[in-house]
Amino acid sequence: MAVKSVALVAHDNKKRELVDWVSENQTRFAALRLYASGTTGRLLKENLERDDIVCLLSGPLGGDQQIGAKIAEGEIDLLVFFWDPLEPQPHDPDIKALLRIAALWNIPVACNHATAEFILTSAYMTDDKHQPKKPDFSGYTSRPVN
Ligand code: PGA
Repeated sequence: MAVKSVALVAHDNKKRELVDWVSENQTRFAALRLYASGTTGRLLKENLERDDIVCLLSGPLGGDQQIGAKIAEGEIDLLVFFWDPLEPQPHDPDIKALLRIAALWNIPVACNHATAEFILTSAYMTDDKHQPKKPDFSGYTSRPVN
């Protein structure tokens, strides 16, 4: 079975919620390859009994952009991003860019606990035959430019 890759990111006020949710769902997460922004990943490692989480740079230091690049390269199947709707973030442009690139490449994104629950328990998570439609940008990349 093809292993799905999940990127996990949470802003500081949302980290506990994300760690608790992943912790409660460890059986489902055991079958998934995990990537995380730096601090989120460190907390996940400290709280879960797994050391195979790929920790990228901290979000504000480039981690969000690293995840965005992995999405563009087709390495990420699902983005779980618990962003904080009540706090301004210094790396707001990076957050916007990450959400944009996920929308562009048609990958599922969960921005809150309720959506994350729906996606994690979806039959598609364990269905090898299901792949979200990959967008065709050939018209865009071959457009005439002067
Ligand atoms: P962090 O980054 O996990 O390193 O705190 C989260 C974010 O993108 O703000």
